[in-house]
Amino acid sequence: MSPPQYRLRRGAVYLHKDALWRKPSGTVEFTRQGLEQDADGMSIEIWQAALIFFAGWSAGVVGEYTFHWVMHRYSLRFHINHHKEFFVLPGRQVAVNDLDVRMNVKFFLLFLLLLSPLMYFWGWLPVLLFWCGAFWHLVIVYEGCHAVMHYEQWLPAFVRRSRLFQWWKGCHFEHHRSSPTGNYCVTFPVLDFFFGTYVHPRQIAETARTEQSQTP
Ligand SMILES: [Zn+2]
Ligand SMILES: [Zn+2]
Repeated sequence: MSPPQYRLRRGAVYLHKDALWRKPSGTVEFTRQGLEQDADGMSIEIWQAALIFFAGWSAGVVGEYTFHWVMHRYSLRFHINHHKEFFVLPGRQVAVNDLDVRMNVKFFLLFLLLLSPLMYFWGWLPVLLFWCGAFWHLVIVYEGCHAVMHYEQWLPAFVRRSRLFQWWKGCHFEHHRSSPTGNYCVTFPVLDFFFGTYVHPRQIAETARTEQSQTP
């Protein structure tokens, strides 16, 4: 029997058992038609892959808000400790202490396990891309943002001086200083606007007032 003839189309990520298990040689070409005919084959466009990843990322942002709310609602010890440390430890130590690699690994393995039945219906690639989007947000973006908020010396001076950074960091510090039931979304405080939990950073409001009273 002659091998299936597939032609490779640009702009698409093709995953096929032949491509996975056997390096495609000149005799195996990939076409969409060929892949659709083969039950083991699977194809996904780049834009679809990007969209699914972005959906996972967005879910990660909403998840961040929700988990933070849960941590306060049920007074989870590790998070309450983070709040206590804020008042007594130097910023760098607060930032480092809050990084918990083991908890992240456990959570994302469990999350993958919970998502895995969906692979049966949608294939493993879309589910994995969604998982990667959420992983990217919660493990890389969130952890990175939270760390530089508590220890801004890790950032270049022009970023630290910018109004946007002052506001962004101010929202989280407002949560730490006086509003533990507000500003749950650390990376994207705009989400708190939507959920009605936004608290404007007091320090920034005060600075703006002083600036206004100083202008003749
Ligand atoms: Zn914090
Ligand atoms: Zn908190």
